[in-house]
Amino acid sequence: MNRREFVRSVGAVSVAPTALMQEPQKPNQENAVQLSQIHGASEQDEKAPGPFLPGRRRVGYAIVGLGRLSLDQILPAFGSSQYCAPVALVSGDKTKALRIADQYGIDSASVYGYDSFERLADNPRVQAIYVVLPNGLHEEYVLRAAKIKKHILCEKPMARTSAEARRMIAGCAAANVKLMIAYRQQYEPHNMALRDRVASGAMGKLRGFISSNSQQQGDPSQWRLNLKLAGGGCLPDVGLYCLNAARFLSGEEPNEVSATLWQPKNDPRFREVEASCSFTLKFSSGFVASCSTSYDVHKSQFLRLEGEKAWAELSPAFGYHGNKLRYSQLQGEVETEFTPQIEEKNQFALEMDHFAECILENRAPRTPGEEGLRDHIIMEAIYEAGRTRRSVTLSGSPV
Ligand code: NAD
Repeated sequence: MNRREFVRSVGAVSVAPTALMQEPQKPNQENAVQLSQIHGASEQDEKAPGPFLPGRRRVGYAIVGLGRLSLDQILPAFGSSQYCAPVALVSGDKTKALRIADQYGIDSASVYGYDSFERLADNPRVQAIYVVLPNGLHEEYVLRAAKIKKHILCEKPMARTSAEARRMIAGCAAANVKLMIAYRQQYEPHNMALRDRVASGAMGKLRGFISSNSQQQGDPSQWRLNLKLAGGGCLPDVGLYCLNAARFLSGEEPNEVSATLWQPKNDPRFREVEASCSFTLKFSSGFVASCSTSYDVHKSQFLRLEGEKAWAELSPAFGYHGNKLRYSQLQGEVETEFTPQIEEKNQFALEMDHFAECILENRAPRTPGEEGLRDHIIMEAIYEAGRTRRSVTLSGSPV
């Protein structure tokens, strides 16, 4: 190292603490690490990693609730994120939380219990709180997080009812904090590619949508089958993906719903919540979405969009990995089936990065509380239609 390089490097070290005090900034190409290409020109390009924000500049997330989703998906996803880092944990099980904190390099002083949640206010590294608790606890923790002035990412379904969702939106607005609902499929590359194809007009006007999202539930004592903790059965949990996809992909809002609910009396799993639900959403453009969801069906997870000029299928449509998109395309007079090559990316990382960018740049998230509220209003209409066996009209502004 010559003298000039030495002085420059010492200078860089001496300014670093000041840089840490400033507003975090998004990474630029200077943060990118360049690797030499080892493959020949006939091979796929190797991508250089990054640019990633340096650790101390990342948006710090506190994860609330250390169940399956947090441990299997969310915490590992930070390894693929560009702008965020896990910096605090909230759990009812201190031993488990300390073990996980150790695994992710989180300071043991940043492990909290539900009763010490408000102490997150004093942790300057926590800029966002990610609520990953049973649905019936979302409202309480979102409002507690808003009171301590932290931005909030909340798992889907947003709440149990539209009334809860409205209170969550109002609480966050009053505290001037951002609220985003974790609709991960709206950040997933295959779903986004299909949305872009619809928006480009390549499919013509949309006429039909068929979708199913179902799975088998086992243990009858789990919170997902408890009305107070879940807010409903398969509809708000997995059926919500079909409903949200119909709205997200079409960019339209339904004005009428009809539905059939099934709740077998002799199955201990379904004492409080529905086992299956089929519902139809009608849109003023003539677009019709037919969806089915169940907690008593072996895994089913697909959607098919039918337009005037083409069809498209995502199957699987809502997986954590391995989603596949196919669509028809007219080339001259020949209709061909096309499978676009879409790079798989960690959708949880994309979703958390989006919220981090919104915080860094003071922007509104793409899936705000209002997006969750719309789905709750429609789900309430679906339940009413199922109970009364009559179609229900959704009038006026959906929110
Ligand atoms: P889980 O049962 O695996 O974990 C729930 C966590 O909440 C556990 O750590 C549990 O100890 C804690 N908890 C605190 N109070 C509780 C109480 N009173 N009863 C029960 N548990 C309590 O659930 P999960 O699968 O991690 O789901 C959590 C949230 O994430 C739910 O809102 C769910 O809908 C959502 N989710 C989203 C996706 C997705 O793909 N986006 C996938 C799964 C779950």
